[in-house]
Amino acid sequence: PRAEAAPVPAPGPAASAPAGGGPLIRFENVIKRFGDNVVLRELDFNVEAGERVSLIGPSGSGKTTILRLLMTLESVDGGVIWVNGDPLSHMRRGERLVPASERHQRQVRRKIGMVFQQFNLFPNMSVRRNITEAPVHSLGISREEADQRAEELLEMVGLADKIDEHPTRLSGGQQQRVAIARALAMQPQILLLDEVTSALDPELVAGVLDVLREVARTTDITMLSVTHEMQFARDVSHRVLMFDEGQIVEEGPPEQIFNEPREERTRTFLHAVL
Ligand code: ADP
Repeated sequence: PRAEAAPVPAPGPAASAPAGGGPLIRFENVIKRFGDNVVLRELDFNVEAGERVSLIGPSGSGKTTILRLLMTLESVDGGVIWVNGDPLSHMRRGERLVPASERHQRQVRRKIGMVFQQFNLFPNMSVRRNITEAPVHSLGISREEADQRAEELLEMVGLADKIDEHPTRLSGGQQQRVAIARALAMQPQILLLDEVTSALDPELVAGVLDVLREVARTTDITMLSVTHEMQFARDVSHRVLMFDEGQIVEEGPPEQIFNEPREERTRTFLHAVL
């Protein structure tokens, strides 16, 4: 059972507004192609620090690509992505922006954590090691501190008793909760969620979404979530972006998007999924 009132670790250096006071994430005229397939067409949007934004829309509309660009798992073909006022995809060289080096991208990316559809835990490491490896090696915190934080995070996701298990012995839902703890252990400013429940058996979905609701309720981490769970999007989001064919067709607070969509495309999409 999940401990309702578990102590929640502070969200780290999160949520403080970017130095310049601008948006935390900014996509500026971003173009992304795969061959002839133009997946993002001069996409512009901002996300403010502490904002929780859900990306909805039909399959293939470019939502996951947006998260992958932010994780620098893909690179842009045009435009610039800014994080905290720093170009992620580019580096400043004098007045100009040039494509970013691996090292630069790694530095900016350090503020960003991602949870994938397929958990992606290291199967040969215990839950504890899964959560502590990156903080010890990349953040340089002590093993003791990393351990203590892992315990707190596992408490939060309701898996304190699984700390010495191997992921293969856990259910998909439990693995995904460990993956959430692992992402948070890096104290990211931004949490990216890529259809985190779509690989789960239906009875395991609620437990994972409850954990994310708790993260939303108790931290001010900035969340960008690609989801087919419309109730979850409604519950946790400040703003919903409706995508089609690599563009935002409509955006607004969840009440507006779900109750009074303005665009026909949004209405037909919601009609099909709700
Ligand atoms: P969504 O998340 O909205 O379902 P995606 O961002 O996953 O959409 O995909 C958008 C489009 O980009 C799709 O047409 C998909 O086939 C294509 N795509 C995504 N990743 C790749 C890739 N690595 N290589 C080629 N095409 C890709």
